Amino acid sequence: MWVVPEKEIAGLMTAEAAFDAVESVFAAMADGKAYNFPVVREAIGHEDALYGFKGGFDGAALNMGLKAGGYWPNNQKHGLINHQSTVFLFDPDTGRVSAAVGGNLLTALRTAAASSVSIKHLAPKDAKVLGMIGAGHQSAFQMRAASKAGKFERVLGWNPHPDMLGRLEETAAEIGLPFEAVDLDRLGSEADVIISITSAFEPLLKDGHVKGPTHIAAMGTDTKGKQELDPALVARARLFTDEVAQSTSIGEFQHAAGQGLIKDADVTPIGKVITGAHEGRGDAEVTIFDGTGVGLQDLAVAAAVVDLARDQGKAVEVEI
Ligand code: NAD
Repeated sequence: MWVVPEKEIAGLMTAEAAFDAVESVFAAMADGKAYNFPVVREAIGHEDALYGFKGGFDGAALNMGLKAGGYWPNNQKHGLINHQSTVFLFDPDTGRVSAAVGGNLLTALRTAAASSVSIKHLAPKDAKVLGMIGAGHQSAFQMRAASKAGKFERVLGWNPHPDMLGRLEETAAEIGLPFEAVDLDRLGSEADVIISITSAFEPLLKDGHVKGPTHIAAMGTDTKGKQELDPALVARARLFTDEVAQSTSIGEFQHAAGQGLIKDADVTPIGKVITGAHEGRGDAEVTIFDGTGVGLQDLAVAAAVVDLARDQGKAVEVEI
């Protein structure tokens, strides 16, 4: 099997390679060629950790495996980041393990790739203003990837904790765009594309904030109870996601679905837009992509990085 250590990922994987991998696997999911296995996520009663597995099989790319990992809130004392994960790939012809890949940076890149895929396929024509809600670790990845998917001219940002906004300002400077910290009224009325990436448990962006035409990539909600958007905003928008069942159970759309404002049938897998089976934005004023994060995304980027690592002599071969 091939081992690709976490420390090698930054030098191997690019936002472009992550974009291509995620776009392809979303299309394979919509074609019924790839499917995700049920997610396991457990509070293990040790170190306040959440641990679990996200796996799947992509019959188009022939990727099979799982990402194992989770969230350890006390990791600072070990000098480690709180999110820890490893991707394991298996040979679908034989069942033998084929690769173990550090999953921390890959998770950030595949999440950023998902919102940028949604921007490519769903943003209003000539979108120029990017709005960022959230200024944590993941926000910088989302902004960098978005800047490659659209021709943005400036970035507006808001965060529940204003002291963190410096990260957005620095990232915008890094990609050469002017940045302004604004309130949600301005963000919602001026941004053509909005990415939300917070750990909120109540709606931040309200229906009245958003003037349209707007595309929103709601990326923060990946667990029951989390919430970033007003259900009324969700109810009036055209809805897309990575995986419908996940979006209406643990994703952003869980709230509108729970209140009976939307049904599963109102949500379109983004893969259908990628393959041309759905028109996408059409004449919708507001589109929302609920990026819940699926195991197949992890497998897709891990397989891409194994290929890059082998080509560049950075993968270590071990017998198991
Ligand atoms: P982080 O801890 O670095 O940053 C947290 C962000 O949420 C900051 O903007 C912070 O101000 C805000 N926040 C924290 N507590 C809040 C609260 N109670 N109410 C409102 N806002 C709050 O986290 P991160 O790594 O940037 O991740 C952000 C979110 O994205 C997390 O919820 C994480 O689980 C989620 N995430 C989703 C995916 C996916 O595939 N959908 C992948 C990775 C991370």
